[in-house]
Amino acid sequence: MISNPIPNSLRALVLGAWAGTLLLLERKRGLRHLRESKFVRDTRNLTVAAGAGVVMQLLEMPVALGLSRAAQRRRWGIAQRLPLPPLLRAFGAILALDYTLYWWHFLTHRVPLLWRFHRVHHIDREMDATTALRFHFGEIAISVIFRAGQMIVVGPTPAIVAVWQVLLFLSILFHHSNVRVPLDWERSIARLIMTPRLHGIHHSIEPAEVNSNWSSGLTVWDWLHRTLRTEVPQEHLVHGVAGMRSDADVQIGRLMTVPLTEPSNVPEYDGKPVRQSFDKLT
Ligand SMILES: [Zn+2]
Repeated sequence: MISNPIPNSLRALVLGAWAGTLLLLERKRGLRHLRESKFVRDTRNLTVAAGAGVVMQLLEMPVALGLSRAAQRRRWGIAQRLPLPPLLRAFGAILALDYTLYWWHFLTHRVPLLWRFHRVHHIDREMDATTALRFHFGEIAISVIFRAGQMIVVGPTPAIVAVWQVLLFLSILFHHSNVRVPLDWERSIARLIMTPRLHGIHHSIEPAEVNSNWSSGLTVWDWLHRTLRTEVPQEHLVHGVAGMRSDADVQIGRLMTVPLTEPSNVPEYDGKPVRQSFDKLT
């Protein structure tokens, strides 16, 4: 098995420090008022996350790193053929990985089988940094097929994959967090990367709102594809999945089985382009 180019200890240090910072900021400067017990939600989210973490370590990382090494050896993928200096090629590869992830996120909302699993992440009725981690292990397992495709088409080196995964993790923790970034700062930051207010709109139960803001890293993809929604006051948002907001719906046992036991009920999507101004984020 190919080892991660970034030592586990360094990854744990960077991600742990970032998660700790966000947790502190959530306590000092919360964006949304959380009603449910933090302890109960954290326990639930981290239990669901544990399954996802195991699949990530044992399946997703080995496949991603193994295929990226094969891509490097055999010169598969766009990045391997770009006539650019290595640093610019690495930058291009990270951009391409981030862009293709936009499409994966879109698919998880549009393909009934994928939504069955992705909605487990969305069923959380409140949002904070632990929401970022609670994915059904089945979603991670299925996503490995897409990840393999990304490696073959984009052709990143193992080092690029490792750096991208860390950047992605930092971004996902940030935009799910319940941190109140000063509004003028957030309007500026949102021009570059996904932010808590923007992603809060994506976790709404309203179809028009959940079908927007699909970027996981750079927001330019939502801007380009006209799926950028900013004009929703945070206090108007109801988070979760319509019809699945009862206390029974959010219990761990139910979350683990819901992909197979409930109809897919994909939120309706009219496909109308929307590109609202970053300056209107509230
Ligand atoms: Zn989503």
